[in-house]
Amino acid sequence: MARKFFVGGNFKMNPTTVESKRALLKALNEATLDPEVEVVIAPPSLYLIPVISELRKDVGVAAQNCHPKSAGAYTGEISAVQLHDAGIPYVILGHSERRALFHETSELVAEKTKSAVEVGLTVILCVGEMLEERESGKTTEVVEAQLGEVVKLLDPSKWKQIVVAYEPVWAIGTGKVATPDQAQETHHAIRAYLAKEVSQEVAENTRIIYGGSVNASNCAQLSVQPDIDGFLVGGASLKPEFVQIVNTKL
Ligand code: PEP
Repeated sequence: MARKFFVGGNFKMNPTTVESKRALLKALNEATLDPEVEVVIAPPSLYLIPVISELRKDVGVAAQNCHPKSAGAYTGEISAVQLHDAGIPYVILGHSERRALFHETSELVAEKTKSAVEVGLTVILCVGEMLEERESGKTTEVVEAQLGEVVKLLDPSKWKQIVVAYEPVWAIGTGKVATPDQAQETHHAIRAYLAKEVSQEVAENTRIIYGGSVNASNCAQLSVQPDIDGFLVGGASLKPEFVQIVNTKL
């Protein structure tokens, strides 16, 4: 089965006004997007409900986080159950900013992932190594350990609801994109790991997307790598070039 190309836009804590959020959506609503690509945007949680109604229906909407419990005394948090009930079909989990700035462990990311897939959400599950880890040859070990916690908790049938985003931390927001060879090597290692630890079928069908300083000028070379099934885009998702990234295969 061919893996459908997937492009996600992670707005992070942007934009800062309702007016600029409207302008971003207007540009996306008016754009011509490759119908063969699954496109998802992840606005801040404050904007999720208005975005669902203002956005064209062929573009999906993702939350940027969720809590592993379904409800309760967790001030400031949103559960997967609530996202699902509100009509939000996707959630980004394990982003390196959440791991680093909000001290999320791989165990917690796995619990969140389990809670999200159990209610029917699709998870964009982020993994990736820090610069020191790459320089000491530990990239594969690090991403396998991050994925391993999810492998432990997830029923193999639930991998249909996972898109793995390989995002080397040193490439996020730095302008230093991984080379196509570097990205392909790690994507291939992730697929091999899924084959070994989950199943050959899951390995073949799971989309593995690349994130880290993707822009309109580097996306084409990355997109032709055999194990790169799309992108998770941060900074450039707030710019008109996001449309060019979505349309990279056209
Ligand atoms: C991200 O935050 O997921 C990301 C990939 O950011 P950027 O594209 O800005 O590097």
